Amino acid sequence: QRLQEMDHTHLWHPFTPMQEWVGQECLIITGGDGAYLIDAAGNRYLDGVSSLWVNLHGHRRKEIDEAVRDQLDHIAHSTLLGLSHVPAIELAERLVRLAPEGLTRVFYSDSGSTAVEAALKIAFQYWSQHPDPDRRAKRRIVSFHNAYHGDTLGAVSVGGMDTFHRCYGPLLFPSLKAHYPYCYRCHLGLAHPGCGLACLEELEELLERQAHTVAALIIEPLVQGAAGMITAPDGFLKCVESLCRKHEVLLIADEVAVGWGRTGTLFAVEREGVRPDLLALAKGLTGGYLPLAATLATETIYQGFLGEVPEGKTFFHGHTYTGNPLAARAALAALDIFEKDRTLETLPEKIRRLEKGLGPLRKRPHVGDVRQCGFLAGIELVEDRATQRPYPPGRRVGMRVALAARKHGLVIRPLGDVMVLMPPLILTPEEIDWMLEITGRCIREITESEAR
Ligand SMILES: *Cc1c(COP(=O)(O)O)cnc(C)c1O
Repeated sequence: QRLQEMDHTHLWHPFTPMQEWVGQECLIITGGDGAYLIDAAGNRYLDGVSSLWVNLHGHRRKEIDEAVRDQLDHIAHSTLLGLSHVPAIELAERLVRLAPEGLTRVFYSDSGSTAVEAALKIAFQYWSQHPDPDRRAKRRIVSFHNAYHGDTLGAVSVGGMDTFHRCYGPLLFPSLKAHYPYCYRCHLGLAHPGCGLACLEELEELLERQAHTVAALIIEPLVQGAAGMITAPDGFLKCVESLCRKHEVLLIADEVAVGWGRTGTLFAVEREGVRPDLLALAKGLTGGYLPLAATLATETIYQGFLGEVPEGKTFFHGHTYTGNPLAARAALAALDIFEKDRTLETLPEKIRRLEKGLGPLRKRPHVGDVRQCGFLAGIELVEDRATQRPYPPGRRVGMRVALAARKHGLVIRPLGDVMVLMPPLILTPEEIDWMLEITGRCIREITESEAR
């Protein structure tokens, strides 16, 4: 009670309408255990969104706990500016080994947003100091409508979500926008697969006309996460890659959300054999323990930054805690667990279980669309299924479903009226079934009360 009062008096929560927040009861987490969160009263909640898409192997994983403790016995922090340290070196080597072919250099930072900022600046600077003067005109970035790449201003500039981004328009650099395939609400009014991916023609035309001024294209591979788990049809990503290659546009893959097994493979780009020029990683990188991010680059890009100091080709960018040793040790331990638990091998069965459990939801009256990619899913709720009319945002339907689920011991966080399921990868088949049953029950409860 006292903690709640202090929270309501002093805390400003991220992405949270605070007027609504202070009117609600506040769930205060005091512990974790595997896939569960524990509150002050000892109640257990299944962590259905992996503590905002970060947790992979469960909370209080012995191996990660021990790695961090062991690192504390050495040193908690030392800088990568002018010095190096063991965990950062070992993790860089490991990331390059695991990453899609061609990515050979690791630039650290602290969050998904900063990983994206670094990628954008690297792409821009790479062309601006290119030996061929004509190519120095490649200065612009192509991004997608409904994209989300983080909340710092560079990342917002390549974002495309009105709710989050509109207000900051005057502060942003202009970027070229293309449509990502949101098949449930196709902007061309077509249906997949009959459409033959007609939305790509727009990108093709854009690049035909503008590529000589375009430095890079940034994309969330396979799924636009924050926009509502919008899944792209098979082959879309591969076609985007081909267009980038054809027009000499650097491909930046933002795998902050979809990396680390979420889509069934370690990295989402693997699903279509795509090889990005720059790869942004964060969220699950430390297994959900500590803030750490990495921007991986190809050798060609890296070489573009070499030269004598007066040539001014250095990448003058970095954050004070870049590559923090505790976080890097957590990341190494999290990667070890992938091998030890054979995490990726256990996923296909869980993905099938999720798919099976989502089946009945597809037929529910107020479920407009159910989208799944690997081990993540989005359930889009609508007021009218026939016309796909959304609920008025003020009704807070998604939020109310999530609050109802909490009463049953399931923590989920919706994106608008899209219910997101992105649990830790360690969930058992029985837990998957239970999560879906509770979600379905709460969707019915809230949407039926709305209909009355
Ligand atoms: C969460 C997210 C980011 C931003 O990461 P932060 O760590 O919150 O800065 C960037 N891109 C994608 C795709 C994300 O899902």
